Amino acid sequence: MDHEQHEPTPAELRALVAEAEVLEERILNVRARLRASDDAGDTAFRLTDAAENLRRATEALEMTASDLARTRTARDPGLCSVPWGVCPAHGNTLRSTGGRSWCTDLGCSRSWGYDRLAMTCGEPVTHTVTDAAGSSFLACRGHAMDAEKRLEGGTVTPLPSVTS
Ligand SMILES: [Zn+2]
Ligand SMILES: [Zn+2]
Repeated sequence: MDHEQHEPTPAELRALVAEAEVLEERILNVRARLRASDDAGDTAFRLTDAAENLRRATEALEMTASDLARTRTARDPGLCSVPWGVCPAHGNTLRSTGGRSWCTDLGCSRSWGYDRLAMTCGEPVTHTVTDAAGSSFLACRGHAMDAEKRLEGGTVTPLPSVTS
């Protein structure tokens, strides 16, 4: 482990989320087994608290990952800062449940082990999106595709550095 000197990444925090979830499940498993015991069942009562504390830790870690992703994206003008996620190839096609996300496009097998929909996008920007009133922002390919479908009277233009 040599990443102690570096700023943690959202991925690192999401790895901690996964570990906390596993630990919570193990505690609940031990609690269930203790409760099944004839004379040791009474020792299980603190484990409900222990599991709840881990649930809170998981939520705090998830929120931290999401805040950090937003901060990192805002810092880097080359990253899309739309506050919800897309499939990089298909745009507004994601579904999320139980802390997982996947693309619903039939030809797409992309999935993510976190709630990508609730996270700041963070994909590289490829297009300028300008609305009918003339205000514009930079967006990734997925968000540009989505904007193209919904914008009325606006334009979606590839950045000069992106030709395809
Ligand atoms: Zn997709
Ligand atoms: Zn985006």
